[in-house]
Parts: sequence; structure tokens; C-alpha cells
Amino acid sequence: MAKNRFLSREKPLTSAVSLFVITTVFYFFGASLRVVEALSLFWPLNAVLAAVFIRYPFLNNPFYYALCYAAMIIYDGVTTSWGTASLLINFSNMVFIITVSLLVQREKRRSTIASPLPVHALSLFNYCIFAAALCALFGAVGSMPVDRHAFYPLFADWFSEQFSTGVLILPCLLSMARPQWPRLSLENLYPLLGVVVCMVASVGIGGAGSLAFPLPALIWCATRYPLPFVCLITLITGMTEIVLVANSIIEIHMTSPLYVNQMFSARLGIATIALCPLMVSVSVETINALVRKASRRADYDYLTQVLSRSGIYEKLRNESDCLAPSNRQLAVILLDIDHFKNINDTWGHDCGDKILAEFAAVVNKVVGDKGWFARMGGEEFVIVCPAMSNADAILLGHQIRERVEQHQFAWKNHIHHITVSLGLSWTACASASLEACFNAQMTEADRYLYQAKQYGRNQLCAQNVPVMGRAAS
Ligand code: GH3
Ligand code: MG
Ligand code: MG
Repeated sequence: MAKNRFLSREKPLTSAVSLFVITTVFYFFGASLRVVEALSLFWPLNAVLAAVFIRYPFLNNPFYYALCYAAMIIYDGVTTSWGTASLLINFSNMVFIITVSLLVQREKRRSTIASPLPVHALSLFNYCIFAAALCALFGAVGSMPVDRHAFYPLFADWFSEQFSTGVLILPCLLSMARPQWPRLSLENLYPLLGVVVCMVASVGIGGAGSLAFPLPALIWCATRYPLPFVCLITLITGMTEIVLVANSIIEIHMTSPLYVNQMFSARLGIATIALCPLMVSVSVETINALVRKASRRADYDYLTQVLSRSGIYEKLRNESDCLAPSNRQLAVILLDIDHFKNINDTWGHDCGDKILAEFAAVVNKVVGDKGWFARMGGEEFVIVCPAMSNADAILLGHQIRERVEQHQFAWKNHIHHITVSLGLSWTACASASLEACFNAQMTEADRYLYQAKQYGRNQLCAQNVPVMGRAAS
């Protein structure tokens, strides 16, 4: 919840006064807009109050709802002669406010994803449709005696106003944070200029299609500017379009200022709309590629290009779902290069790195598709085979020990030889998850590795297996 001096659970009286003042001020603001012909299409109060209730969830109780309602009735009582009609008209305002607020709170409680908006943008769109329809139902009935119109035109008027104002204002207020203005440079201004140019084109060309012209530029803004700024530009663009249409500056019915036919405008508009999913799709593809790259970085070791510790756990989790417990035979071989510190100390870290990478390539080749090979840290590696018999695992460990011993590691005209010690642990792993089995087997494999080091290194130790080192090979 946002911290605020005027709205806080600890200060109910201050909160009540603040809410009353906010309601009255925005009621006054809305009523003033009604007087200016060009702006009479907007009633921002409901969206503003819905945002306040969403941002300060403690306000969502009957007392504060009633307080808002009372502020509206009092304002109407003082400034209009609507009489009892005001009760239903303002009730419809409260319907919009409470519906949106409760729906957003509900989604916020259920969501586990951290996002700059408390709700999914598409959900907010749906909530505004639902709340606007409910509100319009009461609003149209309530304003019939005042406006002396039939139900349907009034309903359409209430619905379109509540929905458009909600969709334009709410994202702006819900994403509002300490301003993070984009760096001012000509290049950074291009998307904003794009919106202005498109708006000018909308006015110049006219027709129904021209309303879609600013869409690509707005998406361009979305890819460049922070969310609150994008919401603000969208709000201003949307409101400007509504005002321009209402005042026939953007002509959507009659001949446009350029005398183009409606088909021309419609074609341009449809093409513009078609461009937008493409732009979004390109952005999504780019983001997905980045996510893939980032997860690859986490799952693979940079130096040796084999799986990392997190990568091996990821494999185990995936394989747990694919491999039936009856088919599982988990072999875990822990490897630690012998006296590796000496190589670093004598030949330097660069040489150590080169040998580590080459060691990983040699072992990886022997393991092949029999299992997974990962670097657990330093010069310690692990081989995991989820479906391998104990005998095959011993054989594999033995082959690896031999291959490493025989391999010639070249570094600056010098040939180095290294050896590796191995600890093997094997289990049928019929019931528990592979990950749980692996953790248990790692402890045992580590014990055998320690034993291999103790017995003189360059050997494999495992349960019921005699020392399989140089002597045995
Ligand atoms: P032991 O036979 O007992 O395993 O002897 P050891 O020298 O290998 O001992 P230990 O496992 O304690 O030492 C590991 C050394 O590996 C210490 C560190 O200098 C080196 N090392 C760990 N990570 C890297 C790395 O990324 N690059 C290089 N060049 N060296 C590393
Ligand atoms: Mg070592
Ligand atoms: Mg070590």
C-alpha cells in the first residue's frame, strides 16, 4: 500500500476528511468540465475515486463508501435542483467505483506476479466494461427524469463515458510513481513527436479510420518510455481524440477536411491497427529471446560450457515428470581434479582455466547421452545418470578416470597431465522425486570422493566396490 500522510489506516479522521475533500474537489472539477462544451464528455471522478480505493485498500469498507456517497449527494444538493434523482445518479457513480475497486483488489490478492500495475491490463479493460455497464444501468434510469431522454441513449451515453474515462485514467493513476522522466534527447523525443504527427494526420485526413492513426506511435512510446509516462501520453491522446471528434475537428461522419472518401480513411485505419499486433509481437519475440538467453546463462557454466549447478537441478525437475519411478536408477558420480591448486600456483590461473575447460570437454565426450554432466563449482563436477545400472555407472566412472589420465593438456608449448578422483553413489530411487534422491546421493558420493582422495587420488570409490584406481586399471 502506498504511504500517505492524508490517507492512512492509523488516522481514520484525517482519512475521512481527505476522502471527503477529494470527492468534493473532483465532483467540482467534473461539474466544471460539463460547463465547457468541448470537455463536457468527461466525468473523471469515478475513475479517480476507484484508483484511490485501489491504492488504499483499507478504505474499502461501508463507512468510507458511505462518506463518498454523502459528499456527492451534498454537492448535488447545494449546486443542482435534481432532488431525489441525485440519489440514484450518485449511487451509479458508487457502483462503478466499488465494482472496479473490489475486482482489482481480488485480482491483486490472487496474483503472484510482481508487476508495475496491480492488475493485468486486459483485466482492467474487462473490469471497466463490467463496471461501466452496471453503472450505466442505474445512471440511465436515474437521469431519465433529469435529462428527459429514453433509456437506451442514456445508457449508451453513460456506458461509453464511464468505460472510456476509466480505461484512460485508471492505468495512469494506478501506475503513478515518483516521476522517472525519460532522458531528454532528440532521439528520445521521436516517439512523442510520432504521436503528435499522427494526431495531426488524424485531423487532416479525417474519417473513422483516422482514430487509429496514433496507435503505432503509442506502441513506440510504450517500448521507449516508463509505464506511468506512457499511460499519461495515452490519456492525453485519448482525451484529445474524444474532444476533437465531439467538436467535429476530426470528421468521422461527413466529408473530411481533405475531402477523402470514408473508404480511404477506413483502409488507412485498418492498416494501422494491423501494424500494432505486429509491433507487439516483435517486442514479445525479442523479450522471449532475451529470457531464453538469460536462462541459458543461469543453466550453463560460462567457462566450461557444461551445465551449472542450477542447470542440473532444472534437468532433474524436468526428468522427474518424464521418467516413471519404476524406470529410475539414479547414478551420481562426483569428480574432483587432483592437486589442481598446484597447476594454478605453478602455471597461473589462465592455464588452470584452459585445463578446466578442456577437462570438461573430455569428460563430456565420454558421458555423451548417457547422462548429464555439470560443474558444481571450482574444479568439482558431477555426472548424473537417471536410468543407469550400478555396474554401468562403475564402468563409466572408470572410463572417465582413464581418459583424463591419458589426455594431454597443452598449454603454451607444455604438455600437462592431470588425474581425477571420483565418488559414486547409486540408488533405485523408486518413490521420492529425482531431485530429493540426487541430494541424498550427493552426500554419499561426496563421502566416497573423500575416500578416493584419502586412498591416494586418481581412483573411483563406491559402495561394495574395491578401490578402482591405478592398481585396478
Ligand atoms: P585435491 O586433490 O585435494 O582436490 O587438491 P586440490 O589442489 O585440487 O584442492 P582443492 O580442491 O581444495 O583446490 C581447488 C583449487 O581449484 C583451488 C582454486 O585455486 C582452483 N580453482 C577453483 N575454481 C577455479 C577456476 O575457475 N579457475 C582456476 N584456474 N582455478 C580454479
Ligand atoms: Mg581438487
Ligand atoms: Mg575441490
